[in-house]
Amino acid sequence: MSLSKCSAVSVWLVLLPLLLVIVPRYTRIEAEATVTEEAPVEFPPPFEFADGVFEPNATLSTTLASYDVSPEISFAVARAIEPVFDLRSFRPDHEFQVVREQDGRLVAFEYAVDDERVLRVVGESDGFHARVDDLPLETHLETVSAGVKDSLWGALADAPRGDSLVMVLADIFDAQVDFYRDIRSGDEIRFVIEKKYYHDRFVKYGTVHAAEFVNQGKSLQAYRFQDEYYDENGMSTRRSFLPAPLEFTRISSGFSNARLHPILNTVRAHKGVDFAAPTGTDVRAAADGTVTFAGTNGGFGKMVSIRHPRDSRGETIATDYAHLSRISVRSGQRVRQGDKIGEVGMTGTATGPHLHYQMSVNGQIIDPRSRRADPPEPIDRALRDEYMASIVGMHDVLEGLAVPYDNSGRVAE
Ligand SMILES: [Zn+2]
Repeated sequence: MSLSKCSAVSVWLVLLPLLLVIVPRYTRIEAEATVTEEAPVEFPPPFEFADGVFEPNATLSTTLASYDVSPEISFAVARAIEPVFDLRSFRPDHEFQVVREQDGRLVAFEYAVDDERVLRVVGESDGFHARVDDLPLETHLETVSAGVKDSLWGALADAPRGDSLVMVLADIFDAQVDFYRDIRSGDEIRFVIEKKYYHDRFVKYGTVHAAEFVNQGKSLQAYRFQDEYYDENGMSTRRSFLPAPLEFTRISSGFSNARLHPILNTVRAHKGVDFAAPTGTDVRAAADGTVTFAGTNGGFGKMVSIRHPRDSRGETIATDYAHLSRISVRSGQRVRQGDKIGEVGMTGTATGPHLHYQMSVNGQIIDPRSRRADPPEPIDRALRDEYMASIVGMHDVLEGLAVPYDNSGRVAE
């Protein structure tokens, strides 16, 4: 996959002039992303620098002792650190740097708390001072593309923090795609996304500026505009009901992967849709509404029912969520779409952990998947022209992003 830093940068170099010319608002984003780096603490020679990584079971004092720092100095350093960083939080394999004068006296100690923060301890005339600094991250707008062979996780496995990209994708398209059941081999993923670096090291993803998900041959696009996403025609990516009213997480992958293959159909006495998912997976309200039932209901086990406001077709819709291990709402409570209402379980008549989800329209229970989705909302008329003009460049970038396959289904180099 062309996601190594080098090729990512070259993609960026190719894209940059294009984006700057066609989409002026991205120049602004680049400018915002330029972080003023704090003046680094300078230690002119003759100071000695030593780099190391925390050993398993090491403490601050054992670590400093191996650099001939006396217990008294070590204690003073620890006292300085205590107010800003938990001394029990030093982790194996995290890097540190010790700065000493040539006579061995400790001048400074730095420790990489995580990818984004550094603990700095500096000796001054009045003793040691410690602080935790955010590393100044540099933001680049880059592209990521991948093809699905076995699963979303597999498709993005070669991308740095590929699992977080799966969640980003699900966040953008979860109103239009059932990520538990509808992912197929041949699906395609494209992002124009901010990537944040500390010097040359990738740290994390930022805002997604544009995304495309080709699911079962159908292209879904999303462009960010004023903190919302709309498609290439200016229609909102939101829908009144979520197709899969449960959290899609890494631990679900084993369950969801199974959905790439035909599943056994069992004859059921009830209508609805079953989502196999690990016990404890968050169950979310499919749409805004009011909880009308939260308790135990025979074979359904622990169950939540929600009544939704009358829709544009004048239909009264209710949804039920059964076999929960936990319920986190009470009857009468108002919920918004996506709010957690409970957790997946296997209470009642269930042979394994799953969510049974059903919908009733005017009192008739139906399979939620059989109901035609409500039409999406268009962008505000007053914003439409500005929006359509703003996505032209991004649209071209997405169109030009190849998703080649090798036989693993991953994007080939
Ligand atoms: Zn069921």
